[in-house]
Amino acid sequence: MKYIIALDQGTTSSRAVLFDENGKPADITQKEFSQIFPRPGWVEHDPEEIWNTQHTVLTELLGRNRIRPEDIVSIGITNQRETTIVWDKHTGQPVMNAIVWQDKRTAPICEEMKKEGLEKYVRDNTGLVIDSYFSATKVAWILRNIPGAKEKAENGDLIMGTVDTWLIWKMTGGKVHATDYSNASRTMLFNIRNLEWDHHMLCRLEIPETMMPSVHPSSWHFGDYLIDGVPVPISGVLGDQQAALFGQACFNPGEVKNTYGTGCFMLMNTGEEIRESSSGLLTTIAWGLDKKIYYAFEGSVFIAGAAIQWLRDGLRILDAAEDSEYFAEKASGNDVFVVPAFSGLGAPYWDMYARGAIFGLTRDTGKKHLIKATLQSLAYQSKDLLETMEKDSGLKIKKLKVDGGAAMNNFLMQFQADILGARVERPAITESTALGAAYMAGMQSGFWKQEDILNKRITDRVFEPLISPEERNKLYAGWKKAVNRTMGWLKD
Ligand code: ADP
Repeated sequence: MKYIIALDQGTTSSRAVLFDENGKPADITQKEFSQIFPRPGWVEHDPEEIWNTQHTVLTELLGRNRIRPEDIVSIGITNQRETTIVWDKHTGQPVMNAIVWQDKRTAPICEEMKKEGLEKYVRDNTGLVIDSYFSATKVAWILRNIPGAKEKAENGDLIMGTVDTWLIWKMTGGKVHATDYSNASRTMLFNIRNLEWDHHMLCRLEIPETMMPSVHPSSWHFGDYLIDGVPVPISGVLGDQQAALFGQACFNPGEVKNTYGTGCFMLMNTGEEIRESSSGLLTTIAWGLDKKIYYAFEGSVFIAGAAIQWLRDGLRILDAAEDSEYFAEKASGNDVFVVPAFSGLGAPYWDMYARGAIFGLTRDTGKKHLIKATLQSLAYQSKDLLETMEKDSGLKIKKLKVDGGAAMNNFLMQFQADILGARVERPAITESTALGAAYMAGMQSGFWKQEDILNKRITDRVFEPLISPEERNKLYAGWKKAVNRTMGWLKD
């Protein structure tokens, strides 16, 4: 038996997944690592701990399954995106901890850039909005704040990387400094039009180009990892959300996946041409494959599964997230609306002054109605995003592929199909992220072809819309009305 291994380096844990020839996950190992919060709004990871946990789970996976290095066709890497590490290329020593995507310390640098009127440039050339999420201002912050870093960078002694780059560097013993197009496109330093590091952005942030990794297609022989003296090729690299899009086999323009986790991440394949959003969706590189670049729209719902956590841990009206399905099925009517705008609203509303609210309460409203309405809010918010994607891409969506923890909720998935008026498809293997990285690696090694991926795909369940267009329009109008009333809440 031959295997492909996916290393899934996430925000809270490192995982290794063993895929057999049929693309089935045969085993998974996982290890959490420390979340470091030096100050409010700051989030760091220890790069050595990232590597150690990743290495440990891989070793465990091989040992437990008695896999010899010769049995591994190749390794694919998928990773938390945007998180930034700067290290000395001679010693391999990071100059400080990794600054995680969630970290807000560079908000003032972003404000400076906005004041200079750079927003249009950034959108046109990197596809992104100016935000502290992305790697660019994190590198700038490190060079400005770590004593001696700027000089060393100018001397060509320091290099930067997102987490994929760090892992490749570690795995190749410091021989390879590289990333793939999907990860590069999340740095806000990569020009998604000419596919080079953007000189204007690098200059503006005073980042020497010598710090930047070389950028390759996502399916590419990045280097070899020696296991017991046997070289195992690293053949696929993709940022986590793009990996899920690939793992869900969204190969054609107009195909969309939605991941229902703490937040929702929706990505739509928009094909080989760059499309621009007028509603604040991000334009990003989905992957580079066969000498071609595929682009995607990306939008996110800030509060999705987090709203279910709020029911459980805040209001304490649920013991477990899974129980929400049972209560929602028992609640009659659709007259209660929960708008979980706990920290404002994202695309297409973009209102940081909005706050959460509950509408439509009557004397008989009980906890089951609140639970139902909260679950429905995940579906309504996802519809908001999907409608925006349809409008901005001009592509009509026929079905939505789903994954993530809350996609297991059958009530939610049925309501999602109902409110979209489109089919919702849940795959049997919900490890889409790891699967995407494994597929990329497997294709590079000639182990799988793209059509195999479609053929091997097994659907767990399809949800067809069951309500009438009139009913759908009425419900969605109710949601829009509720959202409207939460907007600008914090303003006088
Ligand atoms: P993340 O990767 O963001 O941690 P997961 O994909 O593991 O998220 O999903 C966990 C989230 O989904 C939690 O916020 C949880 O409240 C929610 N969740 C998990 N299972 C269900 C379910 N059956 N119904 C509704 N929400 C769920």
